[in-house]
Amino acid sequence: MAEPLSARIPAAPLRPSACPGLLRIVPALDGGICRIKLPGGAITAQQAQAVADAAEQFASGVIEATNRGNLQIRGIGEDHQGLITSLLDAGLGPKNLASDDVRNLMLSPTAGIDPHQLFDARPLAEQLLHTLETHPRFHELSPKFAVSLDAGEGLSMLEHPHDLWLSALRVDGKTLLGFGLAGCPATDSPWAAVSVEAGHDLVVAVLELFLDNARSEQTRMRHLLEERSPAWVLERLSERLRHPVLHDQKVTTWRRAPVTPNAHIGCYPLREAGLTAVGAVVPLGRLSPSMLRRAAALAVELGDGWLAMTPWQSLMLRNVRTESTPRVIDGLGAVGLLCDANQALTQMIACTGSAACGKGLADTKADALTLATHLQQQGVSRAVHLSGCSRSCAAAHAAPVTLQAVSAGRYDLYFRHAGQPGFGALRGRDLTIEAVGALLTADSRSNTDD
Ligand code: SF4
Repeated sequence: MAEPLSARIPAAPLRPSACPGLLRIVPALDGGICRIKLPGGAITAQQAQAVADAAEQFASGVIEATNRGNLQIRGIGEDHQGLITSLLDAGLGPKNLASDDVRNLMLSPTAGIDPHQLFDARPLAEQLLHTLETHPRFHELSPKFAVSLDAGEGLSMLEHPHDLWLSALRVDGKTLLGFGLAGCPATDSPWAAVSVEAGHDLVVAVLELFLDNARSEQTRMRHLLEERSPAWVLERLSERLRHPVLHDQKVTTWRRAPVTPNAHIGCYPLREAGLTAVGAVVPLGRLSPSMLRRAAALAVELGDGWLAMTPWQSLMLRNVRTESTPRVIDGLGAVGLLCDANQALTQMIACTGSAACGKGLADTKADALTLATHLQQQGVSRAVHLSGCSRSCAAAHAAPVTLQAVSAGRYDLYFRHAGQPGFGALRGRDLTIEAVGALLTADSRSNTDD
């Protein structure tokens, strides 16, 4: 009989890294952290129940929705093996244990069922994940090395920088896959494009080219590009690929249409008439076991039995009959999940902060709650990111408004600005949350009056 995967848990971490994984539980002030990488953000209702059970049995019950559409269990006690075994037995592990770190492929939560998609991204995504997990060479990639695949869906995270990004485009009546390195489709045009059929070979060629040429300290694509030009990369790719690499002007000037803000919150009509996806923001990225269990139960009762975790730190039930959406929204709302974009808390993201991170200068989550309450009372909705230090763990991109902690309860305030790197333009120093609330309220009103 085949040996269960959980019987082969290595006694020591697979390789040293500060990044948590399913098999590598890293310490924090509130206990261990385990990251569960989900294929395309998808998890079955049964697996979600297993995560909720494990968080209660082996940890403090705090589950996090990450900005890469994964789940994390925090506050893990001493029984690491018990936790890992329970997750592996629920089928949440990689195909082989050495590949846990490299399962970093971001997909739209509505891939395959989205009314705007140019093709169904799921078969290609499955093929890519299989290759990442089964090619031992790719297990050398950094746990942060990441690929995104956007097939033109109306719900797609376009702003997160990726080592390799792929975006579907139409040129002369054909659907192609544009791609770029160390960037994102929200701000960059493709370097070149290949046919959709060549998508898998392209990704393999890019990863092999990277591994063949990056020195050990060059762990991300941007490091390699400090020394190699796009022309050099494209020439090498053309040599490696059997398929043509197209870089005419129609490709290299193409820009991805933006997605509708907040489309991941509430009802999102799907490709098939009568079916809807229902999205709910996880307040400040933290799920309780009861929230996850309720969402899973609703997915079984009124959806397709799956949950999609999204890069907006939210979850989504898909393939809900449109007439059932009020019941789903009520059920999610009853456990504190947020299905209305007018709730100010849906617009807040905050890192772990000083409550559980040694680098945190302020309790970002508590301060975010205070700020959301203030803005809600003022009828103001602003997308705000609170960061406990400059590392910006909670956001892979610059948010419209960022508060960077300088001490307990006090922040520097930045507004995103196209011409300024990092968080953007500094608008205030060493402000209390009350002062930030007043400033954002005044700023929103003056913008509305314009
Ligand atoms: S941004 Fe800083 S304070 Fe926040 S979780 Fe990351 S390291 Fe900790």
